[in-house]
Amino acid sequence: MREISAIAQKLLQLTPDALLVVDEQGIIQFSNEAASNLFGYTIERLIGRPIMLLIPERFHIRHAAHVSSYLREPSNREMGSRITDLFAQRFDGSEFPAGIRLAPFQDGEERFVAASIRDMTEHFSISDALIGAREVADRANRAKSRFLATASHDLRQPLQAIRMLNASMQNLTKHAPDLNDLVCRQEQAIDSATRLLNALLDISRLESGTVEPELTAVKLADVFSDLEGEFEASAAMKNLQLGFMNTGIVLRTDRMLFLQLLQNLIGNAVKYTESGHVRVSYAIDTDDVIVIIEDTGMGIAEDKVCHIFDEYYQVGPHDTHRLGVGLGLAIVREISRLLGYSIAVSSKLGDGTSFRVRIPRQRLLPESEAVATNANFLRPKPPSRCRVVLLEDNDSVRMATELFLSLEGIETRSAVTASDAEILMEDMRPNDVFITDYHLQGKLTGLDVLVRLRAAQNRDVPAILLSGDLQALKRVVKTSIKNCRFLGKPVDTKALLLAITDLSAR
Ligand code: ADP
Repeated sequence: MREISAIAQKLLQLTPDALLVVDEQGIIQFSNEAASNLFGYTIERLIGRPIMLLIPERFHIRHAAHVSSYLREPSNREMGSRITDLFAQRFDGSEFPAGIRLAPFQDGEERFVAASIRDMTEHFSISDALIGAREVADRANRAKSRFLATASHDLRQPLQAIRMLNASMQNLTKHAPDLNDLVCRQEQAIDSATRLLNALLDISRLESGTVEPELTAVKLADVFSDLEGEFEASAAMKNLQLGFMNTGIVLRTDRMLFLQLLQNLIGNAVKYTESGHVRVSYAIDTDDVIVIIEDTGMGIAEDKVCHIFDEYYQVGPHDTHRLGVGLGLAIVREISRLLGYSIAVSSKLGDGTSFRVRIPRQRLLPESEAVATNANFLRPKPPSRCRVVLLEDNDSVRMATELFLSLEGIETRSAVTASDAEILMEDMRPNDVFITDYHLQGKLTGLDVLVRLRAAQNRDVPAILLSGDLQALKRVVKTSIKNCRFLGKPVDTKALLLAITDLSAR
């Protein structure tokens, strides 16, 4: 290499990075002070020596390949495809991870490569710390998910028994007004604990990032029918008209998440409406399928609408506060995000509110030809008497449920094991209902027992599946099952009664 001018040498010496210049044969032609300090060689001992001197022996072959491929297509770039691959070696034999930037240049006929070298030890220790922190966060997240799974099952179970017992006490104290009043207050407290537990578990699960939507073909009519079953009692108690539009459309969605989203919106519509109606309909425009939930309720002030999707936000003051915890719309927000939907709200204080759930039109499946043209609203079905076979292996839940149903005038036969239930079902009438816990002892599920029963009786035995672990249920039951309802524990006693009367009336 021709002599580098004195000025150029001074400039190169001034650069803070270690700098080496190597010729096409891999011989070091120039080193600045920083390079000499980094490698622990004097400048004189570096110049004229092969670059391999500074590379640990195990990388020599790979390095030679890198050099020849680099010389074929020299460019200004980082050396190596992955920075973690590169190691350099000091005079004392110690190694350090190196970041090397290469710049080719020509001097007359000769070609050279300037290499600026950084010691990446600190960078990697920071990366290690980040990786460590990430592992701790992942572990915490896994612990949270485990806690949620345990909490959802183990807390819902006793709450279920308490709910059933309280509903029974309400029935027994009908003729003792003072006592009945106490039991009613107790019911309100249990209801708020249940709502809070459900909302907290739902939002934590959704925010933990562990929920993966499972998209299947879902008939909108089936979802509407489940929702009608769930809300008709509470709407009727307030003398509200609750209407669902007839529909033949099929959507590709996660059935449980979609149901949960609409449950929260319809639940609010019923909760915040004192007279008039709550209507659930849908429309299709060029881009979206729009599910519309409109009510004639109290409405929301214009300046509050932008906050209603925030966690724990409640528009106040109104006495319906005790009915909610301010998480319903945060759950709606999270589910919409997961499913790729958007939600629009329009509301007029004192006049009512309308929520529009926009579902991308690509999710509309071709089976949807039978779209109803007229807004034809489904009618609630008349209740009818029936008998129930209950399969539940948790003693306290079984006894509480049996007591509650019997006091409601529903003849109930209980079984602890699947085979007992199957024997009891043998002399059941067509409109008698089979109620079962989803998680039974061993690996058996309530769904397995139902499938067996239906096969043995060669008919769609009406059934209700109860589960404290809705997630597990969601994983298994991807579409709706004819003549079958799913209720999460702790079960709303009114919803249970309604599901029984509805199924037995079909
Ligand atoms: P909450 O548990 O209080 O119902 P949400 O997150 O579901 O919490 O809703 C937040 C707030 O938005 C509610 O407290 C209520 O004031 C208002 N809101 C939601 N839906 C309606 C509605 N359909 N009509 C009137 N106000 C509503």
